[in-house]
Amino acid sequence: MKDPEARPDVIPDRPRCPFCEGTRTELHSLFGSHASVSSYWCRDCRSPFEFMKWGESGGDGS
Ligand SMILES: [Zn+2]
Repeated sequence: MKDPEARPDVIPDRPRCPFCEGTRTELHSLFGSHASVSSYWCRDCRSPFEFMKWGESGGDGS
């Protein structure tokens, strides 16, 4: 509702879909193939995708 930055460790309600970049997404499962990702469902393109909840080590730049 308010304070979008009040809880930095909370997962986003509606992350952007990586396929169609739509924001009409919904949380499907808190845990996807890894504990650090959540499974979401895109209502626009009807595709499941995973979103990383925490930016832990792994992104060593490119
Ligand atoms: Zn989509």
